[in-house]
Amino acid sequence: MLQDSFGRKHDYLRISLTDVCNFRCVYCMPAEDMQFMPPTKLMQANEIIDIATEFVKLGVTKIRLTGGEPLVRKDAADIILQLSKLPVELTISTNAVRVDEFIDVFKRANIKSINVSLDTLNKEKFHTIAQRNSFDKVWSNINLLVENNFHVKINAVIMNGINETELNDFVALTQQLPVHVRFIEFMPFTGNKWNDTKVFSYQQMLDVIAAKYTFIKLKDGKHDTTKKYKVLNHAGTFAVISTMSAPFCEGCNRLRLTADGKMKNCLFSKGEADILSAYRAGEDFISIIKQCVHQKEKALGGQFTSDLHKVNSENILNRSMISIGG
Ligand code: SAM
Ligand code: SF4
Repeated sequence: MLQDSFGRKHDYLRISLTDVCNFRCVYCMPAEDMQFMPPTKLMQANEIIDIATEFVKLGVTKIRLTGGEPLVRKDAADIILQLSKLPVELTISTNAVRVDEFIDVFKRANIKSINVSLDTLNKEKFHTIAQRNSFDKVWSNINLLVENNFHVKINAVIMNGINETELNDFVALTQQLPVHVRFIEFMPFTGNKWNDTKVFSYQQMLDVIAAKYTFIKLKDGKHDTTKKYKVLNHAGTFAVISTMSAPFCEGCNRLRLTADGKMKNCLFSKGEADILSAYRAGEDFISIIKQCVHQKEKALGGQFTSDLHKVNSENILNRSMISIGG
C-alpha cells in the first residue's frame, strides 16, 4: 500500500501517454516555447505496462490514461488493451476527436467511464479556446459515447470572461442528456498566463446556477475531486472541481506518471521521481515510488494556498499542464 506521511493511501494512477495534442487549448498548452518530448524519452508501450504492473502490485486499483491527447499516440489501442488485462478500473480522459475510431477498443478493454473535455457549446468560442474547428466532431462523439452506454463526464474549464456565461447552458444540457458535467476552476501551470482575476470560483458558479435552477447536493465520495449536484428531473448531473478556492487535498489518492516516465505525487508538485531511468537501468524503482509518495506535501504541492489573491503563478515551479497529464 502506498501511504504518505499524512496517512493518505494512494490507489489511483494517472498515466500520460504523450505530451502531443491535436488541440491547442489556451489554458493548457503554452503559446510560446512548447517543446515536445523526443520520442526516445517517452515510455514505450512495454515500459508503460511493466511500470503500471508494479504500481498495481503496490495497491493501485484505478488507472486513468491522459496526456496531451492520449488517442493521438500511434500505439494507444495496443496500450489500452494491454492495460485492460490488469486488475484495475481503466479510464481515459480525451478531447474526443478520435473517439469514434476507438469506441470498439474501449468496449474490448471494458472501459465504462470516459472523461471528455468540452469548454463551450458555441462553435466559434470552441475555436478560440482549442484553436481547432472540431466542435461538431467532439459533439457527435459525445453523443456516440452516450448511445453506447458509456458513463460520460464532460470537463469544462471555466474562465472568467471566456465561458462563465455558459454555465447554465451546460446545466440545461443535463436535462435530456445523461452526462455528468464538471466545471473546473482555472488552475495555474507553466506558460498558461494564469492570474486570479481569470478564476471563476466554485461559489460564483453556484450563485449563477442557483439564479436559474433549483438543485440538490449529491453525496461525494471520500476521494472525489468533485462537489456533485443535480437538478431534479434532469437526466444528468453537474459538479464543480474547486481546486483553487476549496481544495480537496485531504482525501487525495492520486499519483501521476508523465509521458517521459517521471512520477509526480501531486499535480502541483515541484519535484519528480525519475522512474523510467531507474527502470531502464535495471535499478530498484519500487523504493523510488515509495519515497516519492512519502514526500507528498499536505496540500497543493506545498506551492500555494486557496487564498487566490496571494497566488503568484510566476513562482510556482511545475510543468505545463499538457506535459504533466491532467
Ligand atoms: N486531452 C485530454 C483532455 O483534454 O481531456 C486529456 C489531457 S487534459 C490536460 C486533462 C484535463 O485537464 C482536461 O479536462 C482539461 O480541461 C484540464 N486542464 C488543462 N489545463 C487546465 C487548467 N489550466 N486548469 C484546469 N484544468 C485544466
Ligand atoms: Fe490538448 Fe486536452 Fe490540453 Fe486541450 S486540454 S490542449 S485537448 S491536452
